[in-house]
Amino acid sequence: MTDIQYLKGVGPARAELFKKLGIETVDDLLFYFPKKWEDRRLSRPLAAVEKGRGLNAQKENLDYVERVCVIFGKILSVRDLYTSGSLRIFKTVMDAGGYEAEASWFKSHSRRFDVFAPLRKDIKPGEKIWLTAVPEDPLFKTRLRVEEYYRADDPLAQRVHINRIIPVYPLTGGITAKFMRSAMYRAVLEYAPGKGEFLPGRLLGRRTLIARDMALKAVHFPENYFELKEARRRFIYEELFLMALAWAVKRRQTRATAKGFTYEIRKRLLTPFREKLGFEFTASQKRAINEIFSDMAAPAPMARLLEGDVGSGKTAVAISALLLAAENGAQGAFLAPTEILAEQHFMTFKKYLKDLDVRFALLTSGVKAKEKKDILDRLEKGEIDIVIGTHAVLEEKVKFRDLRLIVIDEQHRFGVRQRAALRRKGDKADMLVMTATPIPRTLFLALYGDLDLSELTDMPPGRRPVKTESVDEEAAFKIVRSEVARRRQAYIVYPLIEESEAKTLKSVKAEFERLKEAFRGSRVEMLHGGMPGREKERVMNRFAAGDIDVLVATTVIEVGIDVPNATVMVINNAEQFGLASLHQLRGRVGRGRWESRCLLVAHSASAAGAERIEAMCSTNSGFEISKKDSYIRGVGEVLGVRQHGDMEFRIADIARDKEVLKEVMEDRDALLAEDPYLSKKENAGLRHNLLKLYAQKWNLIDLS
Ligand code: ADP
Ligand code: MG
Repeated sequence: MTDIQYLKGVGPARAELFKKLGIETVDDLLFYFPKKWEDRRLSRPLAAVEKGRGLNAQKENLDYVERVCVIFGKILSVRDLYTSGSLRIFKTVMDAGGYEAEASWFKSHSRRFDVFAPLRKDIKPGEKIWLTAVPEDPLFKTRLRVEEYYRADDPLAQRVHINRIIPVYPLTGGITAKFMRSAMYRAVLEYAPGKGEFLPGRLLGRRTLIARDMALKAVHFPENYFELKEARRRFIYEELFLMALAWAVKRRQTRATAKGFTYEIRKRLLTPFREKLGFEFTASQKRAINEIFSDMAAPAPMARLLEGDVGSGKTAVAISALLLAAENGAQGAFLAPTEILAEQHFMTFKKYLKDLDVRFALLTSGVKAKEKKDILDRLEKGEIDIVIGTHAVLEEKVKFRDLRLIVIDEQHRFGVRQRAALRRKGDKADMLVMTATPIPRTLFLALYGDLDLSELTDMPPGRRPVKTESVDEEAAFKIVRSEVARRRQAYIVYPLIEESEAKTLKSVKAEFERLKEAFRGSRVEMLHGGMPGREKERVMNRFAAGDIDVLVATTVIEVGIDVPNATVMVINNAEQFGLASLHQLRGRVGRGRWESRCLLVAHSASAAGAERIEAMCSTNSGFEISKKDSYIRGVGEVLGVRQHGDMEFRIADIARDKEVLKEVMEDRDALLAEDPYLSKKENAGLRHNLLKLYAQKWNLIDLS
């Protein structure tokens, strides 16, 4: 593979800069895909002047293409102006083919040199030039502020920079857009033809995908929208297909593993636990428990996702699984994404398992050193059956005697990398991950393709829907006061911990003082992720015990917190939160006997923000919410799909590319049914690329 520094025009210094973008070889550069494209084709004269309103892009509805105002014309006159301030203006009038345009460059004055000297050389009356520009004033569309210019006789300009659709890349200091485009153009010319096809011909035919080398040229320098769309689709398909294959192989591998132990359902702990609970399991809790128990009794390790809306009772299901492990003499770990939540689970354990013959402990940073040492010691000796904690439990120094079950609560808050670390820890352990984020079917397959799914589809009886309204702060606070007067409790959430420079969003710290005043006579405290673990724990415990009336918090309380006496959730800057977060936050109330309210206070609402608020007010069901487009996009963000390193997509986006994903899943299943180990000749390329990308990252051994 050719080192990037040997690409013409790059050299060692620029190669260093490219490294910051993750580009070390020419290949890396070729697969450094644009994040969007600019349509810099010359179009009808005056229409073209309206930036961002290209008729074509609009008709085609490509949201990744931006129309740019492009002018081609002959310079008629040139004037160099000084303004009263330090600004200098280089003003030209040009004949832009049927109309006259006034195009200007602006620069700050310099005493030391003539800022327009280079311009004056290129831009002379009679010369023909290309410009990209923005209208100075929407009313005078022929008065333009120049952004880039190219001389008509510049041989590369029209191939790389202007009068065509050009690529737009994420950049870094020292690498300009223009340089990047030029380098890419050279790389594509010289190296793209060698990028061979590896998708089997049958798939290409079935999905009418364009060939790889062609797509590579077209994705960077498309001749038209058709090419651009097809090139993108080809690479999106390619990326998703490899991922889907990797999931399938991973899953098969897990199923073929022998964990080397089995379980017997003795009910020594399970029965007393059920009796102590004080409620009957719902039908779907029972079903989930059965599915989990049968996985645990099977020879292969369990890999299962338990999905259930907020408040559907996942914890009790998890505890059942942990008790099955414990009564079989094995160890289990119950992991939560935050210390607050781990602490709360610990309290739940204390409540339900107090008189049972099972040993459990909490392991978080809040635990004192001496106690911690003792817990670690007992874990290693096997004197603790269940440990409850955060990802700190994954640390190397935590050793188990016989860890066989790992339960991960609110799985979407953990990275896949942490999940993998967990897997290594448990070696061949059973794994149950839980989430309250409803995920549409295809998305589930894409995100958790190696897991089986159990769903909690019904709610514990007697739940009252939370009344959700969009109100102003005053109305919200009035309701908070009246609930507090009835001895209920309230959450008031702000998006930030501290005031930001922009000041458009409210923060916990800034508002806290004001709210203490506003709710004078009530017990007001704050809680945010920036506080030390012990402090958070103390505040949360006091809130749970009813010693705090109003909790001013960030989204640290978003996941899992269960305080039935809390009946009001006020969300400030509600327009800023994604649907998944809003729904999670709302899930903190409506957990007890009382009617609860969720009050959304918007401080400025974009159309999208208003749409989300409207969606929240119209339904309580996470499932309904999960069908909204904006939710699905949000899930992608929540799950950190593009960042977490295990699926580094260059162009695909599983939330957005649902249609392609469906095709991919179908094609993958058909292909594997015919050639499960990709051993046929026509699949050799696929196999090679799959292993290259995923073998190490996902520990795929099944194919090698
Ligand atoms: P989540 O699924 O959001 O984690 P939890 O496990 O915290 O939900 O349960 C929410 C509340 O419902 C808890 O207070 C729990 O004790 C209660 N609960 C769970 N299952 C049942 C049930 N079958 N009947 C009545 N209450 C239940
Ligand atoms: Mg929970």
